[in-house]
Amino acid sequence: MSAASIEALAEGLRAGQRRALAQAITLVESTRAADRPRAEALLSRLAPYTGRAVRLGISGVPGVGKSTFIEALGMHLVGRGHRLAVLAIDPSSQRTGGSILGDKTRMELLSREPAAFIRPSPSGGSLGGVASRTRESLLLCEAAGYDVIFVETVGVGQSETAVAGMVDSFLLLQLPNAGDELQALKKGVVELADLIVINKADGNPQAAALAKSQFEVALHLLTPASPNWSVPVLTCSALRGDGIDAIWQTVQRHHRALGDSGELADKRARQAVAWLWTLIGEALQQDFRANPAVAAALDGVLGKVIAGRLTPTAASRRLLELHHRAPRTH
Ligand code: GDP
Repeated sequence: MSAASIEALAEGLRAGQRRALAQAITLVESTRAADRPRAEALLSRLAPYTGRAVRLGISGVPGVGKSTFIEALGMHLVGRGHRLAVLAIDPSSQRTGGSILGDKTRMELLSREPAAFIRPSPSGGSLGGVASRTRESLLLCEAAGYDVIFVETVGVGQSETAVAGMVDSFLLLQLPNAGDELQALKKGVVELADLIVINKADGNPQAAALAKSQFEVALHLLTPASPNWSVPVLTCSALRGDGIDAIWQTVQRHHRALGDSGELADKRARQAVAWLWTLIGEALQQDFRANPAVAAALDGVLGKVIAGRLTPTAASRRLLELHHRAPRTH
């Protein structure tokens, strides 16, 4: 792809052409080394048009109703004139090659909406790599004029942290029957939440109300992440559309609270710096592993660490010395 075609792609994307956006995302997702400079040129060219969307992370265990919820909230937003992009981070797609959003029929109505753009999770590579590509796709969607971006993830593993590191607000979906034990297990994820939503409140409203009060008690025990926000717990039925409007109003209230206090700019700046360090860390590690002197010694040194004959500290020093003595030539 030449400089002229990058320019054409950028113009098509800015003009709101879905095909151009899809192509641009394919370019940033590409793992071909030759595509990287072009992807970076495109992202730099579009940087001035980014940053204007409400970025919302949505998480919850499989079966909690994420796709039903995204469809309900998404249709609500589109009906109010918003343009919505839905992205995903699914670490399991590394193993299966599939994706939690691979099947667009999960959001049947939304996927037919001209004002909605749904993109499956990129597959392959480390979680860091997948997250990095989703982050870049998010910026492309903003440049294409989408004013609300959802980033969905499954409620397991480290992917929540990755999503929380790229959105303004993090919404955690929960089931009404989640017992104390499960809630304790999920404490790490609960700490990331700016908003907790108990879904499927239609089935058993009493259970949903009980779960809501249990969460409210549990949240009181946590140190608030922001002085300007206490985490609300709402109930909804994604299936019936009950409570969806109140949830969107709460997301907007959170965005305003962060924006008014200057916290949003700080948060995004911190996220950008953390992303930078992640990229540097990954690039350095790649360099290290590609160093022939390191590669030749690595298995032996790892074997000694596994056997308990060498401490990780001594092993890391030995390997780093090898790396520094014979830096890889580019
Ligand atoms: P995901 O795996 O988190 O994406 O969950 P889905 O959106 O696929 O939903 C899992 C199941 O729960 C489906 O059978 C949905 O119809 C059902 N479901 C989702 N939301 C609700 C709700 O609010 N109430 C009820 N009763 N069922 C729901």
